[in-house]
Amino acid sequence: MEIKKYEPTEKRGLVVVITGYGKGKTTSAMGMALRAVGHGMKVCIIQFMKGDLYTGEWDGIKKLGGCVELTTTGKGFCGIEGNPYPQAEHRRNAQDAIALVYTKMESGQFDLLVVDEINNALDLNLVDLSQVHDLLDRRPALTHLILTGRNAHPEIMDRADTVSAIREIKHAYRQGIEAQPGIDF
Ligand code: ATP
Ligand code: MG
Repeated sequence: MEIKKYEPTEKRGLVVVITGYGKGKTTSAMGMALRAVGHGMKVCIIQFMKGDLYTGEWDGIKKLGGCVELTTTGKGFCGIEGNPYPQAEHRRNAQDAIALVYTKMESGQFDLLVVDEINNALDLNLVDLSQVHDLLDRRPALTHLILTGRNAHPEIMDRADTVSAIREIKHAYRQGIEAQPGIDF
């Protein structure tokens, strides 16, 4: 059977927001990264507020053969009970991260940028609303930008082309089941 590939008449970069309280925001973005690699596209993933707790995508993407670059920035636990790090440190990390996002986005090397957990970073005042607007303003027309994390800002959702809010119906965690590799991290 012949496989057809759809060609859009006009190519354009999209802004996608994945938010909500259910599980599947980061992994949805990873799924789009996987698809993009299939199309021969180059992907850059920058994770905010992560880096001290291992998650499988860090090594998984290395197995995709160099089409995806992933950088983790910061520490976990921000806004979570038992956070051992001062707010100023979280903010400094996030400020370095956003500077890196601008650099990668404007490098012309990437077709798709995933800015993972930036919605939370904004919600927790680690980055400013004006900085996220700036990111959207500076986005090259053909570059896709995916913003993930809970509590996406209404102004950013207004500007996005596609917005999905993942609703929790159930989570294993609530039944006392521990996080499991491959599903949860
Ligand atoms: P994933 O990385 O699995 O796509 P996510 O990005 O939607 O999840 P985050 O808020 O970033 O969700 O949380 C990441 C981790 O926390 C994952 O291990 C996920 O299973 C877990 N998690 C997500 N939602 C919940 C929830 N409602 N209760 C408990 N743990 C959750
Ligand atoms: Mg996530």
